Amino acid sequence: MAWKLFSRKKPSGFDKNLKAARDAGGGETLPVQDTRAAIEELSQVVKNDPEAVEIYLALGSLYRSQGEIERAIQIRNSLIVRPGLEREFKARALFELGRDFRRGGFLDRAEKAFQEARSYGQDPSVIHHEMARLAAERGAYELAAESYGQLGLPLPQAHYLVRLAMDFFEEGGDSQAHRALRHAIRAYPGAVEAWLEQLNRSYMAGNARKVADIMRDALNQVAPELRFVLLEGLTQTLNKAKRELGQPLGDDSPWTKVCSDEAIAEALLPVLQGQEPDVLLLSYGAMFMLRVGDIENAKIWLEKALVLRPSFWLARLELFELSKDDQTLTPFYKEQLSFFMSRAREVRRFYCGRCGLKRDQIFFNCPRCRSWHSIAFRTDFSQ
Ligand SMILES: [Zn+2]
Repeated sequence: MAWKLFSRKKPSGFDKNLKAARDAGGGETLPVQDTRAAIEELSQVVKNDPEAVEIYLALGSLYRSQGEIERAIQIRNSLIVRPGLEREFKARALFELGRDFRRGGFLDRAEKAFQEARSYGQDPSVIHHEMARLAAERGAYELAAESYGQLGLPLPQAHYLVRLAMDFFEEGGDSQAHRALRHAIRAYPGAVEAWLEQLNRSYMAGNARKVADIMRDALNQVAPELRFVLLEGLTQTLNKAKRELGQPLGDDSPWTKVCSDEAIAEALLPVLQGQEPDVLLLSYGAMFMLRVGDIENAKIWLEKALVLRPSFWLARLELFELSKDDQTLTPFYKEQLSFFMSRAREVRRFYCGRCGLKRDQIFFNCPRCRSWHSIAFRTDFSQ
């Protein structure tokens, strides 16, 4: 009977209702002119009643969250210029205005608004926090790190020390860069990005022994659920080196001295083996084995990973791929299989444990909800 669903006629009023709904528009699709008038009217209605001002400020923040920065700014401004507005509300409105500007990318104006908010009595620690974030967005990583340190937030402090180190590396200031990385780890020993940068640099310097030593320390210091980031990040650097080495390189290229895959596998695998059995460490270990053609041991490690977590799709997929050629399949079957396997490889493997955002690249600060170190591996399709 399912065909009836498709052959069923649309109700006769359908098109008319659709047009009426479109014409009415609703709040979101009101022309800008009308919205401005509405905001103006709302601003007249809202007196110094604390609750109403709160609602008004919340309305502006709602616009900001929708990316409608201009409207948000308009709301703050109409509050700020109101004669007789209590200082507390003026401070709040200026503060929110600063955040609107920052969101809109007007960083200088954001800074000015925050300074004004402070002069009207807005909580200095809240302003300090915003200023730290502004510095980070400007690329002033040293200042950002210092500010987060003063705020007693070692994780973002360490993160921006790493960004500072990356800038130093870019400019050839290797010793300053390494100092910044050590500083990051001292500030926050679980700074997975700092350990990863140290791993990458030792790999690029051709020192496999050091890669192994850093990995051993890092696996002990980083939160267990974030350890995969070290292996994923290093793998991405190995892949990048492979791409770079496939092209003609200049004498000053940072990729000319990298370790061989064999040296990395030889140094790293004993470190992974020395850890408590873990589904992701085993799987990444197997991937390093596959890079050097050690298929038999890779299969053993993948099977161990599946014993720990039978639903771990990626280990299953790799094992399947490795045994594909042992099977006798019809051409039709082979074609279907390779279709599904290539689709499965496109699955975004990482997600934010806080807001659920899915990504195929590692991140340290969630691009959507701004949580720190909330990345997780999708070991299960339900995640
Ligand atoms: Zn998130």
